[in-house]
Amino acid sequence: MTLEATSIDTLVVGAGQAGVAMSEHLSKLGVPHLVLERARIAERWRTGRWDSLVANGPAWHDRFPNLEFADFDPDGFASKEQVADYFVAYAKKFEAPIHTGVEVRKVVRNAGQQGFTVETSEGTIKADRVVVATGPFQRAVIPPIAPQDSRLTQIHSADYRNPAQLAEGGVLVVGAGSSGVQIADELQRAGKRVYLSVGAHDRPPRAYRGRDFCWWLGVLGEWDAEVMKPGREHVTIAVSGSRGGHTVDFRRLAHQGITLVGLTKSFDAGVVTFEADLAENIARGDENYLSLLDAADAYAERNGLDLPDEPEARVIPADPECLTHPLHDLDLAQAGVTSIVWATGYAVDFSWLNVNAFDEKGKPKHQRGVSKEPGIYFLGLPWLSRRGSAFIWGVWHDARHIADHIVTQRKYLAYYDESQRHPQCRDAQSGDSIESVENTPAGSRVHKVSEMGVN
Ligand SMILES: Cc1cc2nc3c(=O)[nH]c(=O)nc-3n(C[C@H](O)[C@H](O)[C@H](O)COP(=O)(O)OP(=O)(O)OC[C@H]3O[C@@H](n4cnc5c(N)ncnc54)[C@H](O)[C@@H]3O)c2cc1C
Repeated sequence: MTLEATSIDTLVVGAGQAGVAMSEHLSKLGVPHLVLERARIAERWRTGRWDSLVANGPAWHDRFPNLEFADFDPDGFASKEQVADYFVAYAKKFEAPIHTGVEVRKVVRNAGQQGFTVETSEGTIKADRVVVATGPFQRAVIPPIAPQDSRLTQIHSADYRNPAQLAEGGVLVVGAGSSGVQIADELQRAGKRVYLSVGAHDRPPRAYRGRDFCWWLGVLGEWDAEVMKPGREHVTIAVSGSRGGHTVDFRRLAHQGITLVGLTKSFDAGVVTFEADLAENIARGDENYLSLLDAADAYAERNGLDLPDEPEARVIPADPECLTHPLHDLDLAQAGVTSIVWATGYAVDFSWLNVNAFDEKGKPKHQRGVSKEPGIYFLGLPWLSRRGSAFIWGVWHDARHIADHIVTQRKYLAYYDESQRHPQCRDAQSGDSIESVENTPAGSRVHKVSEMGVN
């Protein structure tokens, strides 16, 4: 298949959940579009995650509004394959015009005319608009402190699959967000000696008074928070849907056999040094945990909710030895540590996007996904419009806003003054059919959406 000479109104790059949501809204509003995905629909859920990963939220919550998970307990946690299958089914439901196996390699603004020239692995195409839905987590980040030591196996959590993949011996897991804690837990249960380096984190209860934390954050308006609280940029959230879902409790992990250590500071001659911040990080995580219980209780009382009391949720286990007497450094060879898993997050990569849409630090300049470069849109980025933006339930709403913006822009561009009007253009202004927009000064040229099937 070649896309050479294709011309489209709106091009969506990426068919993860963001691209699928975008396509649904554009389809509903009759905007001709095409989605290009370099691999498969929801590829990152299939091959960019570890084998045992399940969704962090229950199936009733971690989904789009217009489809439930088929034959699945709504309070259960879907496996990564089930999440990917869900998005494939969702795309099929409205015959999303997705072309898989096509990589977008370069996007440049056309000189002296509207739109963009897009180089893909299947040829060059023209697009009036480009929605960048390539994901919030594109490039695995390993900090520069990582040692150059051939005796150690070092991988990022994006490349971790299962315990058998690692060399014999102990493991240092750096980072204790949802990925780090779940991987550390799995490795320890598989019989490995595990050290878990814990930084600043939030750790909401899995459930409280009979309601999942996703529900509580929803009713408390937390998913809708529009700005990150200052100083919270490096605070991760530690939650887990594994083994039916449970509250991440670092003391319990320690009692189970994991050695907690502070933030990883440096490596020198086989010795790793940790910050003296473990107790403080754990205490702040407790504060966050308890504050959510307080907010939930206040909400239940204010709204007269008849939910079962759960005083035992406030019982914090005894401090383990590794917390009262934390390690400041560790000789990796002496401790038998042969692997390091860096659960240290991701960065975005827009090197293929050759447009004026970035600030001096390379961050996208946008308002709710509408870029400063006309015709360029971003979707799925953390905090794009609110806290929920990079998650399944949030991206769908951001996509709707962007689709609305695109429709409004198309209307402006389809405007003609009296001297330009003729029957064909009048159709365009009334927003009739896709073809009626053709040959307007705005230059929209399209393929019918129905010509592009999901493949
Ligand atoms: C370990 C982990 C667990 C998570 N668990 C949850 C969870 O339980 N619930 C939840 O709501 N969120 C979760 N998230 C967050 C978020 O939902 C996922 O990261 C999700 O994959 C983001 O979807 P997306 O469509 O924005 O990006 P992606 O899923 O990354 O999709 C982007 C797509 O773009 C394609 N692409 C990239 N560049 C190009 C190009 N140049 N040309 C063509 N195609 C391209 C990629 O192949 C990819 O398929 C999790 C994230 C991680 C890392």
